[in-house]
Amino acid sequence: MDNIFETEEFYNQNKKHNKRRSARKQEGKGLRIFLIILICILSLLIVLVTVAKVVGVLDFGTEVPDNIKTSTYQPIVREDGTIAERKQENYNFLVVGQDLRANLTDVMMIINYDVTDGNMTLMQLPRDTLVVLDAYACMNCKVPVTTAEGRNGSCNTCGGSVKTLCTGYRRKLNSVYHQYYSSLNSDNNEENVRFGMEGLALTFAQSLNINIDYYAHMDLAGFRAIVDTIGGVDMYVPYDMHYEDPYQDLYIHLYQGQQNLNGEKAEQFVRFRSGYIRADISRQDAQKLFMVAFLQNFKEKITVTKAVPIASTMLKYVTHSVPVSDLDYYAKTLLSMDFSNVTMLSAPFSETGGDLVLHRHALRDIINAHYNLYDTDIPDSQFDTERIFTVVNDSYINSKYLTEEEFEGEHSAEDIKENGLEIY
Ligand SMILES: [Zn+2]
Repeated sequence: MDNIFETEEFYNQNKKHNKRRSARKQEGKGLRIFLIILICILSLLIVLVTVAKVVGVLDFGTEVPDNIKTSTYQPIVREDGTIAERKQENYNFLVVGQDLRANLTDVMMIINYDVTDGNMTLMQLPRDTLVVLDAYACMNCKVPVTTAEGRNGSCNTCGGSVKTLCTGYRRKLNSVYHQYYSSLNSDNNEENVRFGMEGLALTFAQSLNINIDYYAHMDLAGFRAIVDTIGGVDMYVPYDMHYEDPYQDLYIHLYQGQQNLNGEKAEQFVRFRSGYIRADISRQDAQKLFMVAFLQNFKEKITVTKAVPIASTMLKYVTHSVPVSDLDYYAKTLLSMDFSNVTMLSAPFSETGGDLVLHRHALRDIINAHYNLYDTDIPDSQFDTERIFTVVNDSYINSKYLTEEEFEGEHSAEDIKENGLEIY
């Protein structure tokens, strides 16, 4: 298969689609791939390392990577006024699955990997999450810049003028990537993808006040290919799933029971949502089930002979920012990762009409517990300072945003593997 990012027609076509279709119509098209991603990152690293090990290319050092490209965060200030220090060997990844037709990132996950204790946390962010976006970029450096630089008007790197992409733009989180992507307008499509990913990473870095060290970007074709490459995923499908939508080219017919899902069937499983009371939320849980099953299958099935085709397949479909020189470092501990070390959760929110509004307090607790790479908690005054996740002037939305409701819903992958998830 050709890499879809290499064809110009694809992107031109995409742009047309985006102009033509309303946001409402795009909603149904979500391709949820986050499993992929997890997978992606895990498998990509594991596979490459395995290959390299076999071929003898890599020397398995334990050197901590020092060339991380970090999205900007605001230094965290301790109570005594000093600046917090970064923890050792603790990293954040942004993993995204993209809808090919609408160029929306319908699957978004932030993954923390704490190498010191082997713990990994995956937080899914709902695609319909409300955001109010101010976006700026330096077109000379070809990088998105912070809102501070944007308002100042000049790029901190080159001193040139900064372009305003949008201000106060109320939209859904899954379109932030496209906002940046479509602004660069490079003939090289991979540059556009990377620009989109850097913009999305910067959006999370600024609002949550965390570092995003790496990103990975993938599409549904890659998802199917990866599933097929490991010989499908053996798993228990908890209920019959039937849905047809010719407009989306979506035909889902799965029956309850233990079975092997090939790439196509796996796609049906992760895209199904019409049969759930909680629609997209339940789909996120179904995707958790799939991710766990995928990981289990991967651990059981991966062999040296399969390593090479898996690696080449994945590299075709993933645009990522992990330097090859660092892969061995991550893979070394990932190879021995245990399910009990993997925590899965969805970001907490309220549904208010058409908007999903994140819960500020609960979210900050999650960030401090799992994603803060510094030795001091992020204070409220340094969290979502731009209020990107609320409409301040809308008292109803803002009251949802400020709810004190506590967060429940963390799962360990071990628990999901043993007991499943109740999905309704
Ligand atoms: Zn610049």
